[in-house]
Amino acid sequence: MAKQWRGVLHEYADRLDVSAATPIISLGEGGTPLIPAPALSARTGAKVFIKYEGMNPTGSFKDRGMTMAISKAVEHGAQAVICASTGNTSASAAAYAAHAGITAAVLVPEGKISMGKLSQAVAHNGQLLQVQGNFDDCLDIARDLAANYPVHLVNSVNNDRIEGQKTAAYEVVEVLEDAPDFHILPVGNAGNYTAYSRGYTEELARGATTKMPRMFGFQASGSAPIVLGHVVKSPETLASAIRIGNPASWELALAAREQTNGYFGAIDDETILAAQRILSAEVGIFVEPASAISVAGLLERAEAGEIPKGAVVVLTVTGHGLKDPQWALRRADGSEVTPTSVPVDVPTIADVLGLVAGGLK
Ligand SMILES: *Cc1c(COP(=O)(O)O)cnc(C)c1O
Repeated sequence: MAKQWRGVLHEYADRLDVSAATPIISLGEGGTPLIPAPALSARTGAKVFIKYEGMNPTGSFKDRGMTMAISKAVEHGAQAVICASTGNTSASAAAYAAHAGITAAVLVPEGKISMGKLSQAVAHNGQLLQVQGNFDDCLDIARDLAANYPVHLVNSVNNDRIEGQKTAAYEVVEVLEDAPDFHILPVGNAGNYTAYSRGYTEELARGATTKMPRMFGFQASGSAPIVLGHVVKSPETLASAIRIGNPASWELALAAREQTNGYFGAIDDETILAAQRILSAEVGIFVEPASAISVAGLLERAEAGEIPKGAVVVLTVTGHGLKDPQWALRRADGSEVTPTSVPVDVPTIADVLGLVAGGLK
């Protein structure tokens, strides 16, 4: 068979807790591109790269952790897994459980997850329940069920998830041949912030890098518990993947901020949408709103004079734009974008496009 990327457990077997006894459940996750973003470099004076996690099998970085969590669950004999989710974890858990031939039960906040993600969980035959509460309620219930019934918890409170996710930092280091100066990413439960910090720490320890990046994490203003320093009871933001009021990895994230001279900031929803638009229209990468907070965070920190010229900055964009496309069809004033309708007539269409006959534009 021709050489192809084999998924993170095969590629990094020497650095993960997998052995001959681990049945590797993989959909080929990881190996995502690190894409230079000249438009963002021009806006900030930094050297900006995008780690495009929307290129994973189910369209988000959750697959890196899920391959590990499901493989370990199957190794330990689990027949069923359970998770709480704002959408992407449920899509990923359902897909990997389907591949493994086991059951995935997923608890999502009713009416609060995007259609794309809901359809993925259903397509992969997940046992999807809409809970009449928020994400934090879902996670409490999932933990309770896993403690008292024969189901295996695959939320990021499960360390296997963090272990799988840290491989994204390995990949960044492989491409840059060092750690970046800054790494910016969205923060919900802070599992991914924790995972990257761990990955970079390991890379430094084994001499693959010369430094730790400063880790900058961003939450939406309406659900920014880490920034505010207290639980947010009813978190609100259109960035549904990070609508979390009581992050599961809060303590770990604070330790990682300390260790990396990091930073947590908050960004409002309109600024998130504007950043999503900049990334899709100027860089050519379409992400869901939660992911765009990395771009908004970069622009805000650069504006504040906190990103030196020439600094190497990596932004993780966590999920694909097609998961939650409705926001791209909305203008800043809230009105809907409707494509212009034209008759089947070349001169009319040329006119609408501003084309002049004979001339090369
Ligand atoms: C899960 C998720 C996040 C948040 O990651 P945490 O590890 O919970 O902080 C951000 N963006 C997307 C698209 C996600 O699916």
